[in-house]
Order: sequence, then C-alpha cells, then structure tokens
Amino acid sequence: MRDVETVIIGQGLAGTAIAWSLINRGREFALIDEGGLGSSSRIAAGLVTPITGARHVETWAWDKAFSIVSQFYQKCEQVTQRNFWKIEPSIRLFASQEERDRFDIRYPSDHSGSYSHALIGSKNRFESELEQSRWSSAVHASYGGFIMPQAARLLTADFLKASLDHFESMNSVSTASIDMSTEVAIDGEMILLESVDIRCKQIVFCEGHRALQNPWLNPIELVPAQGDILTVRIPGLKLDRVLHAGCWIAPAIGDGINDESLYYVGSTYRWAPLNGVPNEESLSILSDKLRSFINLPFEVVDHRAAIRPAGFDHKPLLGNHPSNTNFWILNGLGAKGVLLAPWCAEMLVNAMLFQKPIDMELAWNRTRKKPV
Ligand SMILES: Cc1cc2nc3c(=O)[nH]c(=O)nc-3n(C[C@H](O)[C@H](O)[C@H](O)COP(=O)(O)OP(=O)(O)OC[C@H]3O[C@@H](n4cnc5c(N)ncnc54)[C@H](O)[C@@H]3O)c2cc1C
Repeated sequence: MRDVETVIIGQGLAGTAIAWSLINRGREFALIDEGGLGSSSRIAAGLVTPITGARHVETWAWDKAFSIVSQFYQKCEQVTQRNFWKIEPSIRLFASQEERDRFDIRYPSDHSGSYSHALIGSKNRFESELEQSRWSSAVHASYGGFIMPQAARLLTADFLKASLDHFESMNSVSTASIDMSTEVAIDGEMILLESVDIRCKQIVFCEGHRALQNPWLNPIELVPAQGDILTVRIPGLKLDRVLHAGCWIAPAIGDGINDESLYYVGSTYRWAPLNGVPNEESLSILSDKLRSFINLPFEVVDHRAAIRPAGFDHKPLLGNHPSNTNFWILNGLGAKGVLLAPWCAEMLVNAMLFQKPIDMELAWNRTRKKPV
C-alpha cells in the first residue's frame, strides 16, 4: 500500500488548483479522478469577467482573487511549458438604451477614481477599439458598451491536460471512480482507500456536484446548475476577443481546435433536469441571443452541457470537517471557477498545512439563515 500525505478526489479546476498549491509548497499528493470528459471544468469557456449580469455588478471577491490568479496560472505555464492563460480585454455591448442608462447611473463619470472604474476602460478606449476592429460591422453596437481591460481567459481543457501530464510525470495520478460510501475507511489517524491501494493522512474532496452523494459531507448546501455551451461556425466574423451581449461569444481556441471560424457561445442556467445532457430549449435560447447581436449566419457544429457545482449563496464552500478532521473540501465554485479556484485553494492549503484561518463566510457547512 502506498502512503501519501494528501489525497485529492477530483481533477476539475478545484482539485487541480489544490494539487498545484501543494506542489508550490513542496508537498506530495495522490490525485484520483474517474477520467471522464464531461465535467464542468472540461467544457467551461474559461472566462474571467470583472463586471457581470444585467445590473453590471463587480464580480464577488474580484480584488482578492484577481490579485493572485494571473501569477498562479503563469507559474503553471512555466512549469508545464504550455500556454493556456491570456489576459485579454473583453467587451460588453448594451442591448438597449435602458441598459445603457442603468450602467451610467451605477458608474457616473464624475466618480472615475473609484475601484470599479478601474475595471471599466474609458469611453474613448471602447470607441477606438470598436472602430479599429475587423468585426464591428458584423455586430449590433448601436447602444454602445464598455471595455473590461482586466478580463482574462483560461483555456480550461488545455490547462487540465497540461496539469494532468505534469502530475502523471510525478507519479501522482490514479484513474478511478471512488465510491465514497464503501471505499473510504478511517483507520486511526489515517484514511484507507483500498481500491486504489493508498493510505493517506488527509483527503480533499473536490468532486463538483457529486459531493451531494458523498455521505461524509452530508448535509452540504450545494445548488448545482446545468449549463449548455454551443460551438458555432461563423465564416467572416473575424472576432478576436470575448464579446458579452446577453450571452457571450468567444473564439474557440485551444483543445486541438485550429479553425478561425469557430466560436463558443454560452451559457445557460437550468436547475432541472440535472443530467448533463444538451437541452433543446437551451439551444434555442443561445441561438436567439446570438442572432440579437451578430448579423451573420451561423451553423451550430457542437452542443455540450455540464453541471456547475454552486453554493446556495453563490459563494465557494471550503474548509475542514468538524468531526473527521482529516477531511477537507473545496467546492461551490459556481460560474467563476477559473477566478476563484486558485484563491480558494491557497486558503485551504494554508489552513491544512499551517492552521491558518479560513474566512467563516466560506465555511463549507454553513447553512441558510432560517427566518426567526
Ligand atoms: C457551460 C459552462 C460554462 C462555464 N464557463 C465558465 C467560464 O467561462 N468561466 C469560469 O470561471 N467558470 C465557468 N464555468 C464554471 C466552472 O466550470 C466551474 O466553476 C468549475 O468547473 C467547477 O470545478 P470543480 O473542480 O469544482 O468541479 P468539476 O469540474 O465538476 O470537477 C469535479 C471532478 O471530480 C471528479 N469526480 C467526482 N466524483 C468522483 C469520484 N467519486 N471519484 C473520482 N472522481 C470523481 C469528476 O470526474 C470531475 O473531474 C462554466 C460551467 C459550465 C457548465
């Protein structure tokens, strides 16, 4: 039986970030994943977007998480000698005058010194980017928009593959599906995983939405949401960046794709059924949204779906198990896994190895406040 300090279950964005945080501290681990291709992390477009939603709000925890995210992925690029991280300004187009007015009220130009204003490029920059672009004649931009200079993108499939290759070169990966009810046994201070012949001091559960079936984590208030994403072909669009306008469109790069006319379009939110099966209604929602701001014909060449693991209050869920203290968890990354995983992984690993505190707001076993 092999002895390791830490076992990580799940090689999505959460488990992969934990593994890198351990490597960065010189610690060993064994990472176990069942090796399917349909996880939320595998199909995510990898967008990191500072201002989101119909109300143009700043992404939760942006300042804390963004301050480490670039350094984190760049270091992974250096170690693996692969490219998967890009800081790339993205553009948000307003869909109506009403939306534009809402934005102007939230970000009045006379408060341009505020933090949120640093996340929104100047009006002049937006206009000149649009004018100089090769794609502006193919989009409806009559209500204007704004630029997000700090937006970024992780080619998630490439990042996961490069990480897996690196972990395999360290002999730290097992491909297996672990049944949490029968294959995890506590043996004094240690945990036994007999099916993979491993004994460890601690486990970090990073199973995404499957944590809902893990008896060791019962109850956990995850509210998973299925998301659909299309791959479309739009000859002649020549879009070189991410555009948001009710939905988003992003050049399909990485993952072995080498066709400049392909784009990803996403994504939808559905709370039932949660089956990871692409949904006809989502196809029509995304197609209609795309038609509302792109005036070129398109062909849908692929349609995929996966289940995002989201916390009930849209914040991550992490920390230590109160009675089984060698169990740890990182989950609930919701729609922001790329931005939040490195920050949360650092916090969790610092708690695990150096007893540093975890923000109680993120405690994995927090529950909804009941009305008094
Ligand atoms: C359509 C769509 C688009 C998205 N776009 C973006 C985006 O642009 N930007 C962004 O930041 N986020 C995006 N997300 C969200 C992002 O994908 C999630 O935040 C993130 O992937 C969650 O990662 P995770 O590691 O917690 O879970 P998962 O990705 O679900 O990974 C869990 C892993 O655990 C493994 N596993 C589970 N149980 C077991 C077991 N018992 N034994 C062995 N292995 C097990 C699974 O096989 C899987 O590999 C998107 C999600 C969807 C669905």
